[in-house]
Amino acid sequence: MVDIRSVHKSYGTLDVLKGVDLQVRAGEVTVVLGPSGSGKSTLLRTVNHLEKVDRGTISVDGELIGYRRSGGKLHELPERDVLRQRTRIGFVFQNFHLFPHLTVLENVVEAPVNARRRPRGEAEAHARRLLDRVGLADKADAYPRRLSGGQQQRVAIARALALEPKLLLFDEPTSALDPELVGEVLDVLRDLARTGTTMIVVTHEIGFAREVADTVVFLADGRIVEQGPPAAVLDAPEHERTRAFLSKVL
Ligand code: ATP
Ligand code: MG
Repeated sequence: MVDIRSVHKSYGTLDVLKGVDLQVRAGEVTVVLGPSGSGKSTLLRTVNHLEKVDRGTISVDGELIGYRRSGGKLHELPERDVLRQRTRIGFVFQNFHLFPHLTVLENVVEAPVNARRRPRGEAEAHARRLLDRVGLADKADAYPRRLSGGQQQRVAIARALALEPKLLLFDEPTSALDPELVGEVLDVLRDLARTGTTMIVVTHEIGFAREVADTVVFLADGRIVEQGPPAAVLDAPEHERTRAFLSKVL
């Protein structure tokens, strides 16, 4: 489903990703761990072309992201095609990024109506089902500022689901939340995992990784140091760098 090959990314002289290879199979959950500044967010952002890679390729569901191949060369896709690709890849941020001036329902309906030209009535009915799924059926008409962080993040997840993405990317979805609100958001991720949603989740919630991840990836200094099933990477890491990191977050 996701095929990341030899991806390099620098900002000026700072080499952030130094050749990352990662494959994610359809229906699987990949959890990415790593120290601050190791390139986790940058990696996620390259997957939906919010950042351009300097070298390497990324494909999602067999489609090259940001480029097309012709005559053995890569050509950048026009913005319109990049936007179309991006609507098939949901992105959930640490700080929710809801539209403050729109109600919960309007937040969820916005992209299907404006980016997909779905009829409003149909989009609203779908949005209500999604809000029900994340436990917020009764908040449809509330404004984001009236919601707790955990509720706002669940709206952000419903909004991402509204475009029926092939892939969902989560960048530390619970790290801005008070500890007692983390569980309700992780429950939604668990539910998505159970129903076969393909996800890449940057998180330091080790318990969640152990329970839900098919693969855990440890990224440090722009390289994947170690990857494998949670029992291997979390409980019997091979590399000292992974052990040192885990001893700090566990
Ligand atoms: P954290 O755990 O703190 O979120 P991270 O692993 O997500 O860290 P990134 O956000 O990917 O790390 O950043 C990796 C490095 O790239 C950092 O040194 C960061 O300062 C730098 N960086 C990220 N985005 C940019 C940018 N747009 N311009 C310049 N430098 C950037
Ligand atoms: Mg980050």
